[in-house]
Amino acid sequence: MLNTSYITLNKRALKQNIRYLKKRIGKDVKFTSVIKGNAYGHGIEKFLPMAESCGVDYFAVFDSYEAARALSVKSEKSQLMIMGAIDNEDLPWAIENNISFYVFDLNRLKKAIAAAKYINKPARIHIELETGLNRTGFERDLLPQVAKIINENRKDVEIEGVCTHYAGAESVANYLRIQNQKEKFDTSSSFLKSKKIVPHYYHTACSAAALIYPETQMDMVRIGIAHYGFWPSEETKMYNLLSDNRDFTRDPLHSVLEWKTKIMSLKKVKQGDFISYGNSFLASKNKLIAGIPIGYYHGYRRSLSNVGHVLIKGRKAQVVGYVNMNMFLVDVTNIKDVKVGDEVILIGKQGKQRISVASFSELTNFLNYELLSRLPIQIPRYIKEK
Ligand SMILES: *Cc1c(COP(=O)(O)O)cnc(C)c1O
Repeated sequence: MLNTSYITLNKRALKQNIRYLKKRIGKDVKFTSVIKGNAYGHGIEKFLPMAESCGVDYFAVFDSYEAARALSVKSEKSQLMIMGAIDNEDLPWAIENNISFYVFDLNRLKKAIAAAKYINKPARIHIELETGLNRTGFERDLLPQVAKIINENRKDVEIEGVCTHYAGAESVANYLRIQNQKEKFDTSSSFLKSKKIVPHYYHTACSAAALIYPETQMDMVRIGIAHYGFWPSEETKMYNLLSDNRDFTRDPLHSVLEWKTKIMSLKKVKQGDFISYGNSFLASKNKLIAGIPIGYYHGYRRSLSNVGHVLIKGRKAQVVGYVNMNMFLVDVTNIKDVKVGDEVILIGKQGKQRISVASFSELTNFLNYELLSRLPIQIPRYIKEK
């Protein structure tokens, strides 16, 4: 029994993206591939080895569950860090397996040291600093205590990183907030330095920060969305293409992922009839409608009702009516020779046309992050070498 759709991962696209990003970022900065959210829907088990073969050797996940999955496929040489959740009882496991992890409160710090003593191996930690995102991280006034605890247990901790995360580097509206964060980061890390706490890597930048504010790149960047081939925002794209003097018709980032299915059914609908549930779409003339066996159950958002597009025979076809749980309908009236079984591109390229997730919505590229990471784990994923 086959799934109604499948995903291909294009290795050449990944290579090109990494090459472009490394050029922008510089050789001496460690490139970390962020593979949280099932590698933004690409599938950790398929994506990680492919990234390794493109020269990546540092990976970041959100939690210990994802870390275990990454650990099962990664090579000896690659490093793994957990940026978020890890239960105290998993700390010895992480230390044993050389997985570094963020520490953002005193309890976690103490538990990490206790775990390190217990298995007699230092914990590799990233000290996360609160600089203005107000999510996780040590407040400035806790740092003397942090320094004291670490300095009393020097042989139990290895300072892999001192880090923070910006509150929206992809938008110029946050410019001042980012500058303030960077300033706070510098002050706090100087304080730690004065206490002899110096990490292997200072790291703060996600894709947008790395691409817009070079001074945030430091020793390491944590790149997610951009290496999958999507811009964090239109602004980021414009800024980079302009400062490169690049041809605007040629995007240096290429979608690694393609999501495909095929036409399940065809139906003629008469002018004046409503299509699908309710009355959200009225046929203004006679129409040919194709049924696509994908719905919000598969991660195709209901908010794409009447606005999303797919590609069929190299042409754009618009979603008509509501996206249902397992299917939606598209208008193929103006596409010639459409047959049941024809390939349908949900995300990706066909002929000269491209559907990027962002093109679903003019308003926000955040849909990229959400739709990608929600692609169900059950959809089969294949690597396209080439
Ligand atoms: C998700 C995440 C990143 C990567 O962000 P992108 O915008 O996808 O590059 C970097 N750092 C942290 C802490 C994150 O949670």
